[in-house]
Amino acid sequence: MRCVAVALPVPGLGPLTYSVPDGVGDAVVGARVLVPLGKRTVTGVVVGEPECVTERPGSDPVRPDDRGLTPKPLVDVLDDVPFLPASVVELCWWVADYYACGIGEVIATAMPPRAWVESERRARITDLGHARLLTQKGSRRAALDALEGGRILSFAGLLKRPGVGHATVAALERDGLIELTRPLRGAADASKTVRYAVLTAQAHDDEARLGRRQAEAVALLRGSPEGIAVAALAEAGIAADVVARLVRGGLVRIDRRRVDRDPFERDTASRGRSAVEQLTAEQTLALRTLCDRAAAGQFDTVVLHGVTGSGKTELYLRTAQYVRDSGRGVLLMVPEIALTPAAASIFRAAFGARVAIQHSALSDGERYDQWHRIRRGDVDVVVGTRSAVFAPLPDVGLIVVDEEHDSSYKQEESPRYHGRDVAVVRGRMAGALVVLGSATPSLETFHNARSGRYALVSLARRVLDRPMAEVRVIDMREEYAAEGPDVVLSGPLREALTRRVERGEQAIVLLNRRGYATVVLCRQCGDTLECPNCSVSLTVHKAVGRAQCHYCNYSLAVPTVCRKCAAPYLELLGFGTERIEQELRALLPTARVGRVDRDTVRRRGAIAALLARFSAREIDVLVGTQMIAKGHDFPRVTLVGVISADVGLGFADFRAAERTFQLLTQVAGRAGRGDIAGEAIVQTLHPSHYSIRHACRQDYLAFYEDELRFRTSMRYPPAVSLINVVIKAPTRPAAMHDASEVAAALRVAGFNGYRVLGPAPAPIGRLRGEYRVQLFLKGTHRTMMRKAVTAVMEAKPDLKRRTIIDVDPMSVL
Ligand code: ADP
Ligand code: ZN
Repeated sequence: MRCVAVALPVPGLGPLTYSVPDGVGDAVVGARVLVPLGKRTVTGVVVGEPECVTERPGSDPVRPDDRGLTPKPLVDVLDDVPFLPASVVELCWWVADYYACGIGEVIATAMPPRAWVESERRARITDLGHARLLTQKGSRRAALDALEGGRILSFAGLLKRPGVGHATVAALERDGLIELTRPLRGAADASKTVRYAVLTAQAHDDEARLGRRQAEAVALLRGSPEGIAVAALAEAGIAADVVARLVRGGLVRIDRRRVDRDPFERDTASRGRSAVEQLTAEQTLALRTLCDRAAAGQFDTVVLHGVTGSGKTELYLRTAQYVRDSGRGVLLMVPEIALTPAAASIFRAAFGARVAIQHSALSDGERYDQWHRIRRGDVDVVVGTRSAVFAPLPDVGLIVVDEEHDSSYKQEESPRYHGRDVAVVRGRMAGALVVLGSATPSLETFHNARSGRYALVSLARRVLDRPMAEVRVIDMREEYAAEGPDVVLSGPLREALTRRVERGEQAIVLLNRRGYATVVLCRQCGDTLECPNCSVSLTVHKAVGRAQCHYCNYSLAVPTVCRKCAAPYLELLGFGTERIEQELRALLPTARVGRVDRDTVRRRGAIAALLARFSAREIDVLVGTQMIAKGHDFPRVTLVGVISADVGLGFADFRAAERTFQLLTQVAGRAGRGDIAGEAIVQTLHPSHYSIRHACRQDYLAFYEDELRFRTSMRYPPAVSLINVVIKAPTRPAAMHDASEVAAALRVAGFNGYRVLGPAPAPIGRLRGEYRVQLFLKGTHRTMMRKAVTAVMEAKPDLKRRTIIDVDPMSVL
């Protein structure tokens, strides 16, 4: 009998083998199947033949001949054609292997919402059950009460009722008081449908007998042979009951038609953008290189290093048009659509309905529709965030990763993949051109360009010969000496803000830390307010009057007396964006000040709305976290202020300098994009740190050289490969003990290909109530390192569940 390997959406679980009974269909790779798993029946995806699976590292298929097990037959095959294209399944295998995680988790990432048909049994009360309800007692009564009035509950939901166990449910079913059903295929189609009224042939004959309203409706419908949406009829004054009467009379029938929910309906960013008529000389050259390489029709990677405002988006667009016209698909990846709406809306304007958009801020329904449009082949161009790298787009000829350095491409939960790196692999599998664009390429990417693995195309100038913003560094130690320790906005920044706003220009003020104050300190006993679950201090949010943990969301009302010594002398130290907003309002009483951070833009679409108001000049000064630093194009912004440019440098993270450099360069790049030259004012306590010095001169190459020297001497990426292993346990000694065991095993397993560092407490030693101890593997043989980690963890399944394996980590907290 034929067997297949099936991936299930269960964390850490390798593929399982099932036999394919006769008559259920082919179970091709990429098809969804229903399989038994323990007592449940669940949906999985066929990912290959069991034989091919044994060769995949990290997978643990249950094979017919091992352990004397015969594979169980699968229950049903849900798709005749692959639900996931085979090329996407292949990509998922690569990800599972490279990032040392279960194939099921990766497949789950690649799937659209509502694709997992859970076939759990559901319970419903019968007529008999209704009739006998009042005579029942105890758990039987509890179960029937829960189903009263026709409610349908899942089997599991029913078991949650007090006292209700499997025995109760079974007895109720046996007695005919409830019914257990297994809904299957029906739930799989979550398309939105619209009801259309359409005239039937009979309408001609019977028209004479109609009342006035009905006659009006028939007249309207006669003008639209393809029908009119019932909702549109209602708007035209024809109520639903009129339509219903026509349906009963046989004159009208109702068609349900699928419509795609359109996430662009809300999108206004593309309005008012003037088309670029003539490329600059630099752009023209760059475009020629990109198109030539795309025309070769084979895998190739180009780093597009262009300073802020050099017109990279226009190049993405024209290369995309070129590739699309040659008949191949285009994938544009962007860090976060809400923060970088420009690229998405420009593509929308250029490709119209042949574009699909994919990102997590869409509703499930929208994501479902967009995914299926791509899968049906209605789309040539996909614009999306990280997970769009798995889009089911056939024959991809071009993948653009915009702002490739952005850390949001890395998923910080399993599967911990990096969207940019997976994009390069997808490009290799598809024979596509991959373009990695940035003003501040990541060290890894630029290193690859330098070493010749990737080609390099540079844009050194801004379009229309606009100058780069002039950057001034303010040494805050001098400000403190002159004005005292409480100063937040330096003298020069206050002056510049006042001047610019008076002239009707706009300003951006960045501080990459939200909240009002970052520390609550008791002046009597020195106690600070810490999170009870995490080893971090609580941040005060004044507007809501609460002190909050930014890691686990624990919060309490801001106390007025010390919890330890009861002294009423609590001091608020440190500051975040909320405090800056208050300072700005005090400084500029007539200016309109807006704030963008995770406190002000919790709601979906709120960021876009705030940014649109800034764009429409309804806001003069915008203060915010790194959310405002990204690829926005606000031509009226002439001043950018950076408060505490060194916020990130305090973290024990080898990427701290790189992050600081990127943030400062990007935010300085927001100034002077219009006709008026821009300036940036950067406040710091470390004016001589190389990341700040080079960012102020916008000198990427100098930064790259210094940073590469640091990484090489400290043996960090890109000089070596890095894997971070974090072990979590309820106590620190337990975490330490387990980590030591893992470290010892890794050292035994470690040929000479890598070194193991640690164990040592993670920088945030306690998080959400768990103690965390970490290890690092450093070496030049990434494959060997990965295999060693996988092998060691497979041998300790109980530990594996408490362990995070992060290959190529972006942050190590
Ligand atoms: P980058 O992404 O490199 O920072 P953008 O692509 O956002 O830069 O371009 C900055 C601005 O310049 C945009 O408003 C864009 O429309 C405009 N632009 C791009 N190319 C040209 C050109 N050749 N001539 C005039 N304006 C251009
Ligand atoms: Zn916490």
